[in-house]
Amino acid sequence: MAQRVQGTEDLYGSYMRAWQHMNDVAREVFGTYGFNMIETPAIEQVATFVHGIGESTDVVRKEMFRVFSGALVESLLAKGSESGLKPKQRLALRPEGTAGVVRAAVQNNFVPQGGAPVKLWYAGPMFRGERPQKGRLRQFHQVGVEWLGASDPAADAECIIMLMTFFERLGFNPESLRLVINSMGDAACRPAYREKVRSFILDHKDQMCDDCLERAELNPLRAFDCKNDHCREVMKDAPLAPNNLCEECASHYAQVKRYLDEAGVRYVEDPTLVRGLDYYTRTVFEVEVEGAGVGAIGGGGRYDGLMELEGGKPTPGLGFAVGFERIALALQAQGKELGGDDPSCVYVACTPDVRPSVFGAALALRKAGVRTETDSQGRSLKSQFKQADKLGARLCVVLGTDEVAAGMATLRDMATHEQVQVPLADLAQAVIERLA
Ligand SMILES: [Zn+2]
Ligand SMILES: [Zn+2]
Repeated sequence: MAQRVQGTEDLYGSYMRAWQHMNDVAREVFGTYGFNMIETPAIEQVATFVHGIGESTDVVRKEMFRVFSGALVESLLAKGSESGLKPKQRLALRPEGTAGVVRAAVQNNFVPQGGAPVKLWYAGPMFRGERPQKGRLRQFHQVGVEWLGASDPAADAECIIMLMTFFERLGFNPESLRLVINSMGDAACRPAYREKVRSFILDHKDQMCDDCLERAELNPLRAFDCKNDHCREVMKDAPLAPNNLCEECASHYAQVKRYLDEAGVRYVEDPTLVRGLDYYTRTVFEVEVEGAGVGAIGGGGRYDGLMELEGGKPTPGLGFAVGFERIALALQAQGKELGGDDPSCVYVACTPDVRPSVFGAALALRKAGVRTETDSQGRSLKSQFKQADKLGARLCVVLGTDEVAAGMATLRDMATHEQVQVPLADLAQAVIERLA
């Protein structure tokens, strides 16, 4: 029997409904803020991610799912090396959504110089090439937004508030949500801060793990995320980003917080929050669910340099992404079901001799927008009722010899077992009235 690839999942039943529900809530909530949906390809040139996410990040160095066309693999194997790869042949399945959306914005000129900002949201699968582990799927699902062209600190606050509203609308207990924010500075002040952290790590290199020593050269701020207890202890005394902001960044951060305060949004400032990707500038944020034990369920921040890294003109931007699988787990931990039950239906049952009449009755109901089921296996009337029960039908339309001859149908309420006769010609109308 064929098996699905390790680290992937089939979405069906209540899990599929949960994913659809998350999309519906996203469309609704993000729509009220003026966001439109975009779908970029799942496959992009490696360069899109290298430029955007950063060469030194774990995502690009270790986790990216690279893909090669069959013919290319054949010819590379024949040559015995990958070195013949042209840049445009280096492809990867997207590890996250932002780089692709920004690439699309640059390529299609969504934000012409001096033009209005563009607000986009997306939903879809993302991929990871490393060996799958528990809770780290090879194909996982994210919903995210990108707001390109906005530099105003009010945009940061609106983005965060939109994210918190989204979580509440998904059913999270608002008290359980922990919003963490920080500012990481910009091109003016971050290089000096980064250098400070680098020398701090090197001054304490005897007490830190090999990974952190490697980070010191590539991406020193990642040392704040090290899981090693010694490193954590040492990093408690490291220089902090909010104390190293230039005047503009400090003022921007203060205004973001003022807007959040005005809106009554609870947040915690964590000066060590750096997020894993290189492209963030100024505001970064993450949301955790207390007691769920799944880590952050979403996060994001500002990335004022990203459009330029992807080959566009300097354009400010910000966004966030949330993880479907983690959110479903975290909601479960709060005793909530994201997917809900199968939608109810109407079942058209019949005695075998009037089977052809079911066809027309079901068509009429479906045309009127009613979710309708019928027997397609030649079952007895009794088994058709059982089937209707199993499908959670609220109403059963029963067609018998005498009824069809008289141009009538019997409507049976599956809960109360109450029955009424209605003219077949008015069937759809009668069913809709009873469902309402
Ligand atoms: Zn470490
Ligand atoms: Zn700055």
